[in-house]
Amino acid sequence: LMRSADLALYRAKQDGRGGFAYFERRMYEEAEESRLLEQDVRQALSEDGLALAYQPIIDATTGAVVGREALLRWRHPKRGDIPPDQFIPIIEDAGLIHQIGDWVIREACAEAARWDRQTRVAVNISAAQLSGAGLAKTVLGALASTRLEPSRLELEVTESVFLGDDAVTLASLERLRALGVRLVLDDFGKGYSSFGYLSRAHFAKIKIDQSFVRGAADGAQDCVAIVHAILALARGLGVETTAEGVETEAQAEVMQQLGCTQLQGFHFGRPVPAEELEQLG
Ligand code: C2E
Ligand code: MG
Ligand code: MG
Repeated sequence: LMRSADLALYRAKQDGRGGFAYFERRMYEEAEESRLLEQDVRQALSEDGLALAYQPIIDATTGAVVGREALLRWRHPKRGDIPPDQFIPIIEDAGLIHQIGDWVIREACAEAARWDRQTRVAVNISAAQLSGAGLAKTVLGALASTRLEPSRLELEVTESVFLGDDAVTLASLERLRALGVRLVLDDFGKGYSSFGYLSRAHFAKIKIDQSFVRGAADGAQDCVAIVHAILALARGLGVETTAEGVETEAQAEVMQQLGCTQLQGFHFGRPVPAEELEQLG
């Protein structure tokens, strides 16, 4: 079976008319671009070219660092840093997401095992990773070999994981939760934000998307109302909340006053490599 990228390439090459239609050329260019990046990402994988950066998550009341989110970084030899939003879809297309995702989990657990025991580590998991049966095994293996307490590992998923087969997704989330790790719903408020997922998947925490953090701090009444509602819901369900993308003191204050339990964003710290964490102490 041809992947869409290959198909576009094939069709573009088959076109005997000399010049192809604009959209076909665009598809060709995109396919070519993905193919080149795919080669490069394979090389990065085999040459330790991928790295994790860690961003602090702060307790809204005490100001203490309670966790850190691991974020995948790829410094391309020619193009410089490529954001994960751009290269993760390529990794998924290339069938490399399990390999790279497993590496992220093991690496993040090994790093967190060196932190003080109050600090959790959060790892992002994409929908494609959940579909395989191997994820729980990888998590179990990483916890065992690093001796990290399961409750110190948070797995962040967005609601996009529910777009496929709901029953399969819920089963694999439940398998992970049974290991003792904490499930976190990322980017809440950004998409459909169905309340149904919240009752079925037993999340330990909801992360409120940056757009609402900005809006609420700017005094947008609709944003304030929505954040209120999310926080009331979270309290009712007994789950924690993290405000994402907090960039200013004003945003931090508003989210704290509204009752958000944790804060994360450039205001408190940018994602940094593990080596820099050690220097920070
Ligand atoms: P996310 O999980 O919602 O991560 C938060 C993103 O917001 C990160 O972008 C972070 O650098 C950025 N951010 C944090 N604070 C601020 C702020 O104050 N202002 C602004 N403007 N941005 C802030 P990043 O690292 O580019 O990652 C983007 C997305 O890529 C992540 O969103 C996550 O969905 C995905 N991702 C990152 N690493 C991994 C990974 O290891 N595996 C998987 N499957 N996905 C990953
Ligand atoms: Mg995240
Ligand atoms: Mg997020």
